[in-house]
Amino acid sequence: MTTMTTLREQLWSDLDVEATLDAPIGALTWYEAGGRAEVLILPRTIESLQVLCRRCCEQGIAVRTLGSGANLIVDDAGVNGVVVRLSRGAFQATAWPQETAGGLAHIGAGADLMSLVQESARRGLAGLSQLAGIPASLGGAVRMNAGGSFGDTAQSIHTIELLTPVGEICIIPKVDLGFAYRTCNLPAGIVLAATVALAATDPVKVRAHVKEVFEYKSRTQPMSDRSAGCMFKNPIDPSTGQRQSAGRLIDLAGMKGTTLRSAFVSERHGNFIGLHAGGSTNDVLALALAVQQRVLDHAGIRLEREVVVWSQRGEDS
Ligand SMILES: Cc1cc2nc3c(=O)[nH]c(=O)nc-3n(C[C@H](O)[C@H](O)[C@H](O)COP(=O)(O)OP(=O)(O)OC[C@H]3O[C@@H](n4cnc5c(N)ncnc54)[C@H](O)[C@@H]3O)c2cc1C
Repeated sequence: MTTMTTLREQLWSDLDVEATLDAPIGALTWYEAGGRAEVLILPRTIESLQVLCRRCCEQGIAVRTLGSGANLIVDDAGVNGVVVRLSRGAFQATAWPQETAGGLAHIGAGADLMSLVQESARRGLAGLSQLAGIPASLGGAVRMNAGGSFGDTAQSIHTIELLTPVGEICIIPKVDLGFAYRTCNLPAGIVLAATVALAATDPVKVRAHVKEVFEYKSRTQPMSDRSAGCMFKNPIDPSTGQRQSAGRLIDLAGMKGTTLRSAFVSERHGNFIGLHAGGSTNDVLALALAVQQRVLDHAGIRLEREVVVWSQRGEDS
């Protein structure tokens, strides 16, 4: 352990970062459960992150990015390698459009999406209100193309800045990101920032839309449970070609309210798997498998997991 720690400290000891060894990253997710990372690094500058990524790449050390942890399960056994979180310095900065007619905002990928929605509404800028109530960092929202009944992240994005695993920065226009339902073709690397298209409008109208979206979410989803939002993607119904509600399929399969040790299927929304305080993410994963099997048996449909799982085997989504 001493040798490994010494070796790994050489990765960041001369960089402008905060580092925590054996970091309890599971506790930083919305499940507030799960294992630890060998090291959690909070870079303060883009240059430090570039050098870190380059060194990790040269030494074959895995680098993962933790956003707000709202779509993530960390396996109880934890993960090897480096976990980066963009919660410091430049990664949180926002440059709002100067023009009164709106324009492009340049936003650090670590910025909190809910705060961005509120602040854009306060400024009378339309373009993010469809995302009200979704817990995320901007980088995580891009990676997952977060959204819902009112729209998704893709419709706001103009470009992203990506740091490649070898430490190079490239700007990728939206058209090259292949945004689709709850996904995009993000190349390997870390989203550093995005430009978001915002239009000036009546602040009262934007605030009313934010309120409408937020109230709809609060009414239909168990927002205060420990969860990662919807566990499964809404599958395509072959008879209509349209997506159908995974929550409804879970409900019809009789799984609403089912418990497995510390994990439970929400009574409010069948696609949310909650966890009691002090519970285990292994229980969540076991219950998700049981739900998947029951829906397959009942409806002949294999649900695809939306939530990302980190384990010693890597990232699985
Ligand atoms: C109560 C609740 C309600 C929710 N409601 C919704 C909803 O309505 N609609 C919806 O779509 N989702 C919803 N979710 C899920 C979640 O909010 C979204 O998936 C969100 O986009 C996750 O962002 P995050 O920053 O938390 O990412 P994380 O969970 O931290 O990470 C998710 C993935 O994104 C990657 N990632 C994070 N940041 C970066 C980055 N900078 N660069 C590259 N990769 C990165 C991670 O490595 C990981 O693979 C909900 C979750 C909860 C807990």
